[in-house]
Amino acid sequence: MSRSNDTIDRIRDEVIKCKLCNLCTNRTNAVPGEGNSKATIMFIGEAPGRNEDEKGRPFVGIAGKILDECLDNVGIVRARTYVTNIVKCRPPNNRVPKDDERRLCNNYLEREISIVSPKIICILGRTAYHSMLGGASILGNRGKFVERDGRLFFLTIHPAAIIYNNKLRDTLEKDLRTLVAECSRLDIPI
Ligand code: SF4
Repeated sequence: MSRSNDTIDRIRDEVIKCKLCNLCTNRTNAVPGEGNSKATIMFIGEAPGRNEDEKGRPFVGIAGKILDECLDNVGIVRARTYVTNIVKCRPPNNRVPKDDERRLCNNYLEREISIVSPKIICILGRTAYHSMLGGASILGNRGKFVERDGRLFFLTIHPAAIIYNNKLRDTLEKDLRTLVAECSRLDIPI
């Protein structure tokens, strides 16, 4: 639900105190999205991990470092983008967030999208793909653009996948180059 006077700071304050779902009981910190509230590209991952939970910031662990390196390599400045997750609190042992947790947290994500109004939403990994677009196989669809309800989505893998399979680093970078090329073609500043 979006409100005309809604702000990223307001969402942040609400997320930090949120007790809507059971994930609040295990967290050290809730992890609101962060970045440029006027970003042209928004990245959406699955959920905070251990480092994110400790620091209260998204993508600051190993997966975040990989994402930063890949963004650097293709010429995307992370600070100019907006980065968030499907759920804002870490699931125990990094399990996949449950449907009800995703549903209850979705209000924050919808409001983030409404305020930032990115030109392209870059979906990172299977869980975000399933939650946002109902998709199943990210590997079978990565590197593709999807238009849905007037929004443009781009699909790629989650950087955490590279921790377990370093060959996927090239895959993520290749996809991000496709994203940059499309931004250039559409005259979208990044
Ligand atoms: S995951 Fe989302 S809905 Fe659940 S407690 Fe955290 S902020 Fe609230």
